[in-house]
Formats: sequence, structure tokens, C-alpha cells
Amino acid sequence: MTSKKQVALKPGDTIGILGGGQLGRMLALAAARLGLKAQVFSPDPDSPAFDVVQHATCAEYADVEALELFAADVDVITYEFENIPSATAMILAARRPVLPDTVVLETTQDRLAEKNYITKLGIGTARYADVWSADALAVAIKTLGLPAVLKTRRFGYDGKGQVIIREGDDPQDAWDRLGTKSAILEAFVPFEREVSVIAARGADGDVVCFDVTENEHRDHILKTSHAPAAISDALAAQARDIAQKIATALNYVGVLAVELFVVPGAGGPTLLVNEIAPRVHNSGHWTLDGASVSQFEQHIRAIAGWPLARPLRFGPVTMTNLIGDDILDYGKWLTVPGATVHLYDKGTPRPGRKMGHVTVVEPPAEGRNNR
Ligand code: AMP
Repeated sequence: MTSKKQVALKPGDTIGILGGGQLGRMLALAAARLGLKAQVFSPDPDSPAFDVVQHATCAEYADVEALELFAADVDVITYEFENIPSATAMILAARRPVLPDTVVLETTQDRLAEKNYITKLGIGTARYADVWSADALAVAIKTLGLPAVLKTRRFGYDGKGQVIIREGDDPQDAWDRLGTKSAILEAFVPFEREVSVIAARGADGDVVCFDVTENEHRDHILKTSHAPAAISDALAAQARDIAQKIATALNYVGVLAVELFVVPGAGGPTLLVNEIAPRVHNSGHWTLDGASVSQFEQHIRAIAGWPLARPLRFGPVTMTNLIGDDILDYGKWLTVPGATVHLYDKGTPRPGRKMGHVTVVEPPAEGRNNR
């Protein structure tokens, strides 16, 4: 077993993964390819990640005994989602290295703490205000103007926990609909596109970013990602610099995603950070088939204490999420030339649930570089 601080895994060692969704499943598969074992901890007996590992712990995150046994079985612990309860993280971190470090969770679990952190680094975000009551919301609306987006500080994802407030809307009604006591109001960003950077940082401080990805959402859920994003090389370099700055400031080890808005301006487009995900990210799934090394492998390498890869992209890539009933068309996707189909085995489709994804890599055109 490795010590609490140092991580230098050898083939055959075991990575503990908190969370049993598709991200945990794809992390476990990437670990297996590198000769590492994975043990998944999840309270959900139907976790798709359980199907691809030999050892799984099905227990609540508050089950101290189960956490202790899990920690004893593994060499390093990571997570596939950021809403790990802090007590769980503390129990595990006292026994095994948890990477990315649990302090990262404190910043990224809370939209206000995260935006304050990014702002302190001198990186732009939407203008925002702390909101804790309907009265505070009315004051924030006066400062930021409308339209604006009211978001819960914690536990928001895929557009859940947010309400757009437009001119003429009743702020009290918006506040009641959100149903929380801690929120932030963000000025609405008139973005021309949304992009993300998937960055990996190794234990030695090395940072490697994948090509900037352009993302389109349907009903607030990621529908397609394209790499590379249709932005200038200079703006892409800025996006990668932002991700590198954040990863370095957080002393991060592993893969993180930075979601950004591209905002049109007289002097050319600029970038604002929307949010940070301290984990592998849906907008990086294209790397599984579109690059020489995937985001999942980069994460495993980083937390294993291994060198990061320098991934090459094979050509322009499109990743399409199969959401809800989209999965029923899997047979059609299986016959699309050049398509790689990933099905998560999540059982009966539910609206809004990510059930699988498909990647299509275009061969690079003759005589052109790889864009
Ligand atoms: P989030 O959960 O913060 O990632 O938000 C989900 C989606 O809502 C984003 O990908 C954007 O499409 C949209 N959105 C979030 N915040 C804003 C904002 N301040 N202005 C405009 N659109 C936003």
C-alpha cells in the first residue's frame, strides 16, 4: 500500500473511485488498460460502473465502516462527481491519498466560493452577487440588471437548480421556485458559443490541455461537443491558459474541466469562466476515440503519479450524447460509418438521463493540418 501522501502506483495496484456512474465506469476501464485495478464505491446497486470492476462497495457515503474497509482495499482514491459529502472525504483522506485533494471540493461545491476564487485569480466570470433572501435578490437585480440567472450555490447540474429571471418577472416567485436559502444571481451572458477545456495536471505540476471543445446544449443538457472549437488559435490559447492557471492555483492533481462562455466584443471575442468541474467531464468524451490518449487515461496517470501523455487528436471530432429515449436508436448508430458507440447500460431510459454517447472522427483532409 502507498503512504498517505506519496502516490506512485505500480501495475496491479488499486484505484478507489467514489461514484458509480458512466464517468466512474470509463475511469475504471481506462485504469484496466494501464494494468491497474479499480474498486468502485457507490450507494446505488444499479451503478453502471459496478459492471466493469471485480470489486465494488455498495454502501451509503455516511457508512463509516464501509468507507474504512474501502480505504483499506485501495491505494489511492478519486471521485467521478464533486458533491462528495465533506465528512466522507475527510474520513477517506485520513486513510489514503484522495486526489484531487479534498480542499478542491470545498471550492468547487459552492458556486459562490468558486466564483470568488476565479475572480481572485484575475479571471473573468459573469457578474454575480450573493443572494440569501427575496429581499437580497431584489437588491442584486438592481445591481446586475435583467435578464439574470438565479442559481443554487450547491448541488446544481445540467440546468437543475437555476431559474432565468427576465424583465417583468416577479423576483419573489423566482426565489420561491428555486426553494433554497443560499443562491447566487449571475448577469445573463450574451455568449456566442460555449467552450470547455479539459486539462490534466500531474503530481509534478505538469499541465496538459486537450484541444478546446465547443459545446451545444439541449434543454440545459450537453448534446454535442466538437473538437476543435471554432475559435481563433489565440482565443484557444487563452482558454488553455485560464485552465492552466486554475489547475496550478488549486495545486490540482488529476483532470479538471473549465467551462467558458465566448462573448462577442468590439475588440474581438473574450472569455468568461462559467464553472469548474473537478473531474473528467462529458465534453471530454470525444478524447476516447478522437485522441491518442483519453481524458480518463490522463486522470488515471495523474493520480497514479505517472507522467501525463501528450495526446494527439486524430481529426475533427464530434461527440453526440444519447439522452433519454435517444438510446433507443443505438442500432442506427451502430451502422454509421466511422461512428464509435458507447452505451452505459443504465437500464430503462428516463428523460434527461445520459444513456450513452457516439463519437465520429473525420479523417483529416489531404494536405491540411489536423483541424
Ligand atoms: P451551469 O449549470 O452553470 O453550467 O449552466 C448550464 C447552462 O445554462 C450553461 O451551459 C449555459 O448554457 C446556461 N447559463 C448558465 N449561466 C448563464 C449565464 N450567466 N448567462 C447565460 N447563460 C447561462
